[in-house]
Amino acid sequence: MGKITAALIGNHTRVYISDTTDMVEEARKIHGTYPVATAALGRSITAASIMGKLLKGKKEKLTFQIKGTNLIHSIVVVAWSNGNVKAYISDPQIDIEDHDNRKLNVGGAIGKDGELIIIKDLGLKDPYIGRAPLVSGEIAEDLAQYYLDSEQQPSIISLGVLINKDLSVKSAGGFIAQTMPDITEEEIVLLEDAISKMKPISTILKDYKSHKEMLEALFPNINIKILETYETALKCDCSKEKLESALITLGPDDIKEMMDKDKGAELHCHFCNTYYKFDYDELMKIYELTKE
Ligand SMILES: [Zn+2]
Repeated sequence: MGKITAALIGNHTRVYISDTTDMVEEARKIHGTYPVATAALGRSITAASIMGKLLKGKKEKLTFQIKGTNLIHSIVVVAWSNGNVKAYISDPQIDIEDHDNRKLNVGGAIGKDGELIIIKDLGLKDPYIGRAPLVSGEIAEDLAQYYLDSEQQPSIISLGVLINKDLSVKSAGGFIAQTMPDITEEEIVLLEDAISKMKPISTILKDYKSHKEMLEALFPNINIKILETYETALKCDCSKEKLESALITLGPDDIKEMMDKDKGAELHCHFCNTYYKFDYDELMKIYELTKE
């Protein structure tokens, strides 16, 4: 279970701070990621889960996608408006030299020439698609730049993942803070001062337990008001029924071929790593449906 807390920093800055330790550990087990990939996937999970919470409508959905150019080619996290996510990484077992002592080289593994793609399904005919070139591949910076360029929204973003010696996730989390248009000069000065002295999120995750304490340590001279706390989870939405519908859209010829050649079909969900088997008779039923 993860946890997101919504709060106010001063009077004109909204913040969502998140603990995704359990979610990232679960994703690590599903995908068998090694530390750099765990960190890249974990930062993406934290960002997407908060962005899901930032969606306005209950039925809205968001896809957070990173296209890398070095060792990690693709990360896809789908988030719902309750903050739940499903997550995929194309290259879970990469490793890269050149870590400094405390920080995993996520930017190096993703590469600087990649792209961040945000797809928002707001229940309209066409989804909204925003694309931004990566700034560093470290993800938090890239997302802050995306918000500024694509949504004209100044944002302070920090994302972190700490790994245990046995490669499991020690802690994961982060925050997205966004200023409101009517923020005062005085508040901007306080925020800038806090940012200039801000401790790395990995230190904050290690040193503090509650979200309130974390926010007070991140923004020491500004009043913090906690608004609400939500539970979040890593949860896939796949099912045999959904895959059946997908098979139907393939059309009769492809289904017939699966029946003749393989006497069945096995479909794989890349997000939760589940395999779904369809035997000959099940395919026959689907075949009949494609002809209707
Ligand atoms: Zn699934």
